Amino acid sequence: MPAPAPRPDSWIRTTPSGLYCEPGDFHIDPVQPAPRAVITHGHSDHARPGNERVLATAATLAIMRQRYGERAGGSLQPDGYGESLSVGDVSVSLVPAGHILGSAQAVIDYRGSRVVVSGDYKRRPDPTCAPFEPQHCDLFITEATFGLPVFRHPSDRREIEKLLHSLCLFPERCHLVGVYALGKCQRVIALLRAAGYDAPIYLHGALIGMSELYQSLGVALGPLLPCAGLTPEAVKGRIVLAPPAALADRWTRRLPEPVTALASGWMRVKQRAKARGVELPLVISDHADWDELTATLDDVGAGEIWVTHGNEEALVHHATRRGFKARALALSGFDEEEE
Ligand SMILES: [Zn+2]
Ligand SMILES: [Zn+2]
Repeated sequence: MPAPAPRPDSWIRTTPSGLYCEPGDFHIDPVQPAPRAVITHGHSDHARPGNERVLATAATLAIMRQRYGERAGGSLQPDGYGESLSVGDVSVSLVPAGHILGSAQAVIDYRGSRVVVSGDYKRRPDPTCAPFEPQHCDLFITEATFGLPVFRHPSDRREIEKLLHSLCLFPERCHLVGVYALGKCQRVIALLRAAGYDAPIYLHGALIGMSELYQSLGVALGPLLPCAGLTPEAVKGRIVLAPPAALADRWTRRLPEPVTALASGWMRVKQRAKARGVELPLVISDHADWDELTATLDDVGAGEIWVTHGNEEALVHHATRRGFKARALALSGFDEEEE
């Protein structure tokens, strides 16, 4: 008789550096430099510099190289979506997480037992990355950034229409939209293009490098122009994208009466929009909302759920009520701020 499959918690556990797979001898998204790391995606709270050996998708490796140069890792090993690789005594395959370009869930198999580490993910279509693929597993390790029933993201198309409508209403003003540099920026651009907006889009300097990288990796973004050195006249009636942190900077005074917008799942919370002086909140998130999180628990059919970061307690409570064995990991080092 074959030996029964080992329990997932006998071979994967949390350490001060993050999740650790013992029979593969690697960490997943370690918060401190590790000898061997599997990286789910390029956001800086997941992909950190200084690991000795890194396994990730080619796009994630390209993002890490762009951000960290030599410090991206001692050796960088690409793994294509769905290609299974042996690492120590386990096999690892990366499958799309639908979060940003290159984002992956790590599917880890050990002696008939399967663990999926989702990283960050969302379930709705995104023109800049491959869609999330649910994988059946014994243990599903999920994020819960928007893990409260109040978080139900509207359709991104409706949010983009709000922006385009405002553009029509205020042709003399410029629309300054706060977007995170990796993922959100390129998704907002791609959504604008999908909605038929084909004018040049102006980018703050901090957004140019990553947008060029997306384009070089095959994501079409249409005409993009730097906003450095522009006259106010040039951006009248135009869309200017900038990192959220730069929305209130001095350079924005050169813009013609900007309508300030911000694209984030947190814009669902009116006080947050108000506190940041955002006139036009756009609820566009790269993380699963409550309905997506709970549907995913059903889709993956795992007996056991671990919740890594965000609003863990509500999701754990929900999962327990639904008959899953569930617990919060309270991992540190992950941003609750949507990046
Ligand atoms: Zn992320
Ligand atoms: Zn994250």
